[in-house]
Amino acid sequence: MSSTPSGVVDLRSDTVTRPTPEMRRAMADAEVGDDVYGEDPTVNALEEAFAGRVGMEAALFVPSGTMANQLALRLLAAPGTTVVAGARQHVVVYENGAAGPNAAVQFQTVADHDGTIDPDDLAWALEAADHHYPTPGLVCVENTHMPADGAPWPIEALRALRRVAGALRLHMDGARLFNAEVATGTSAAAYAAQATTVMCCLSKGLCAPVGSVLAGPAEVMAKARAERQRLGGGMRQAGVIAAAGLVGLRTMVERLAEDHVRARRLADAVAERWPEGGCRPERVRTNVVTWRHRATQVVRDHLAGEGVLVGTIAPGVLRMVTHHDVDDEAVERACKALAGAP
Ligand SMILES: *Cc1c(COP(=O)(O)O)cnc(C)c1O
Repeated sequence: MSSTPSGVVDLRSDTVTRPTPEMRRAMADAEVGDDVYGEDPTVNALEEAFAGRVGMEAALFVPSGTMANQLALRLLAAPGTTVVAGARQHVVVYENGAAGPNAAVQFQTVADHDGTIDPDDLAWALEAADHHYPTPGLVCVENTHMPADGAPWPIEALRALRRVAGALRLHMDGARLFNAEVATGTSAAAYAAQATTVMCCLSKGLCAPVGSVLAGPAEVMAKARAERQRLGGGMRQAGVIAAAGLVGLRTMVERLAEDHVRARRLADAVAERWPEGGCRPERVRTNVVTWRHRATQVVRDHLAGEGVLVGTIAPGVLRMVTHHDVDDEAVERACKALAGAP
């Protein structure tokens, strides 16, 4: 079984994936240069490959998805404006309050129960600016939306939001963009066509050890390069890690479908064990399963005793994420542990 070396089934996050043998070979053989001079051929190849995949003019390799999101805020939202975003989005909740100090913006959060933003909520925020509310400077969506059980955006819902946004720019936090592509059949490029900038994590389901990419118009990305430097994100011979990202883009996208099937199996087990936990298996379309429980630590401890690690994303909310290092046998072991959990 391809669980971690310790034999533990680690469902805490898809960030725990380790680079594949092919990635390690590519990393060892990577041609490199100084990327701060724009001279690392492997980084350049990765940026070109991602930009091509999402149909954008240019892309920038960055150390983390958080940095990509923060760059988008700094570049697209003027200081003192608001960023309209779903209340549970990563950029709102899980970046340690970065938007204030980094971009001098504040969030105007709206409901994101099913992972999407209702265009009427955006219209309200835009109109409220005429009634002494601060002015929206950017819209931010998350695709897939992690806390909504990894829900992918229906492309029609995104187009409807885009229409209401008008001239307002839109950043897509596509940390798991390719999970959305695989689950819906809507291409990453079709999603990205509705956005000004889009970011994607290479270090989650795509299995690369480090790194994310941000893509957008050439003129925005030129500024992003300078902002990355300001944040201390210039990485020199980064081709060593970009090489793994290239392998991820080439070899790890289609297999995400397997993660989605396995997550659904886990969701069935959760719904069976805790019918009151709010887990709706039919809504689990990608690789994230969440459910509510009053005593999350008791559940985590029990599962850990069975060699199964799960995480929490909020008080009283447990999460499991499937990924390359979780095979069918690991899922069966997890299901058995869930069935016996308190
Ligand atoms: C993981 C994640 C990020 C940030 O990525 P890091 O590389 O961990 O900084 C951003 N948005 C979403 C939705 C994520 O899941």
